Amino acid sequence: MQDSGPAVSGIQSALLFETPEEIYARVFREFKPRTPMPKIAVEFCRFANADSFIRLESGVIHVRISDLLEGAPAPVVEALAYILLGKLFRRPAARIYAHRYRLYLNRRDMRRQMHLIRQIRGRKFVSGPQGSHYNLEAVFEALNAEHFQGLLSRPLLGWSRAASRNRLGHFDPSHNAIIISRVFDNSTLPAVALEYVMFHEMLHLRHPVEHNGAKRRVHTREFHQAEKQFGRLQEAKEILKTL
Ligand SMILES: [Zn+2]
Repeated sequence: MQDSGPAVSGIQSALLFETPEEIYARVFREFKPRTPMPKIAVEFCRFANADSFIRLESGVIHVRISDLLEGAPAPVVEALAYILLGKLFRRPAARIYAHRYRLYLNRRDMRRQMHLIRQIRGRKFVSGPQGSHYNLEAVFEALNAEHFQGLLSRPLLGWSRAASRNRLGHFDPSHNAIIISRVFDNSTLPAVALEYVMFHEMLHLRHPVEHNGAKRRVHTREFHQAEKQFGRLQEAKEILKTL
């Protein structure tokens, strides 16, 4: 070992002293070694979540990043540059970058900030519990009495705008709301299917998402265990298959 000076300064100049545009230019060079460097414009925007966008338009690469990431360490900005340019050139970024990026977003302080920003900036459509055939409040309270000793405090309840078959229901912790697909507001569909989806979302109130490093576990072992309390689970699942 002689002089480690140059290696160290190399890392520093790459990671610490670049502007976001310089980071994108360096990563661009890796994807496209021989293509003339386009103009690159990086903009931080007040989105309601951590989404980022990239597009190539009349020879300019436009990058729009959530302002949540404005203070992110350079390695995180770099990881996102690999992810976004990879998307643009249809060449998936190395997994290390996706992992690094997720690790950062999964940090407790980042999750807290994202939660707040969604609450403040995100608009939530909640229709109210009364549908044409079913009332979600009645469904919720019957399940609450049967499975939670009536102790679960009732969140906002609403029907989705569209009768989605892909997203049957979801719990949105930022708005404390359970949204059920309008596909269930149908007298020809047995109530047990709707009750099962509601019960599933109610369990999300009880069993928060677990975070561990870059991993995020929504349906934990305890969650699956608790779901078995629903007496007509198989029957309900069979009906969902027919939707
Ligand atoms: Zn779920």
